[in-house]
Amino acid sequence: MVDTTTSSSPGIERSMSDCMLSCVVPAFNEHDNLAVLLPKLKVALQGLTDAWEVIVVDDGSSDNTSDLMGMLSREPGIRYLQLSRNFGKEAALTAGIEAAEGDAVVLMDADLQHPPALLKQMVQRWETGVDMIYAVRESREDERWGKRIGTKLFYSLLRSESGVQVPPHAGDFRLMDRAVVTALMQLPERDRFMKGLYAWVGFRSEAIPFMPESRLSGKSHFSAWRLWRLAMAGLMSFTTWPLRAVSVMGFVVSICSFLYGIYIVGEFILYDNPVDGWPTIVTILLFFSGINLLSLGVVGEYIARVFKEVKHRPVYLVRQSMGASARTERPEA
Ligand code: UDP
Ligand code: MG
Repeated sequence: MVDTTTSSSPGIERSMSDCMLSCVVPAFNEHDNLAVLLPKLKVALQGLTDAWEVIVVDDGSSDNTSDLMGMLSREPGIRYLQLSRNFGKEAALTAGIEAAEGDAVVLMDADLQHPPALLKQMVQRWETGVDMIYAVRESREDERWGKRIGTKLFYSLLRSESGVQVPPHAGDFRLMDRAVVTALMQLPERDRFMKGLYAWVGFRSEAIPFMPESRLSGKSHFSAWRLWRLAMAGLMSFTTWPLRAVSVMGFVVSICSFLYGIYIVGEFILYDNPVDGWPTIVTILLFFSGINLLSLGVVGEYIARVFKEVKHRPVYLVRQSMGASARTERPEA
């Protein structure tokens, strides 16, 4: 169920017409989509405030994105940040958030799946004092059943450990107040599972339902394998239950093998049955080797993440940056 409460925060009132709105668009080989999205976005933003910027974060595109953006970023309001290679969507979002200057920052995909028309509703909620307004898919009927089941399982595993409650079916499409952005920038981790980080920082958040459009051009960059890796990153950064599951498994297997040992000794003493040697030993040996390797793998995954964090490498590197935000001076009344 999508929570669409429409209360306001006592004491907090904001007006977008006096503030600056930033829109961060991560883009990886989205030339055709950007050419359609940016004019639409510009109109939507101009309708909301005089001070605005769109930051297109080029996540190592190999198409003509840089030529297009070189041209478009001459217009006030369109900024272009080119990363030195493909760092992944989470890093591109981080780069955009860090570059944004607005009092509120919107995150939006480049493929027109996130309708710019929703910005108005988000801004209205922000003006009443809500700090983060995130768009939640009304339904996942358009997705294949495999992905739907995987997503459901992922969210239930993620929520099984109390603490951070990541809302299911919410993506990166959201508007965040400057306070939320400042909080996000304080989180130092390099392996950034953004959906978890948004939930971790807290603040007054509200969902608004939406139905994503289909991708305008090209195809999704998130293959099943990439989604799996993202899910693992999320589970390993926000929960420790895989480690506990391994201990529980070790405990259960030890009890079972102990009971089986008693059974074998009992059979020998009571019924004088000789123990079947070879098959039993091989089966048990293989079973335990499997469990050992699995446990080592789980522990290894966590150690790999620690290793990645202690290297302290930057999350992304910028190759070039162009353009500036738009600030239309209003005539004196
Ligand atoms: N994206 C990115 N870096 C990547 C992969 C994707 O910046 O390595 C951007 C992509 O250009 C798009 C957004 O992230 O603007 C969402 O990607 P996509 O549409 O492929 O994902 P889906 O909508 O299928 O989840
Ligand atoms: Mg998409």
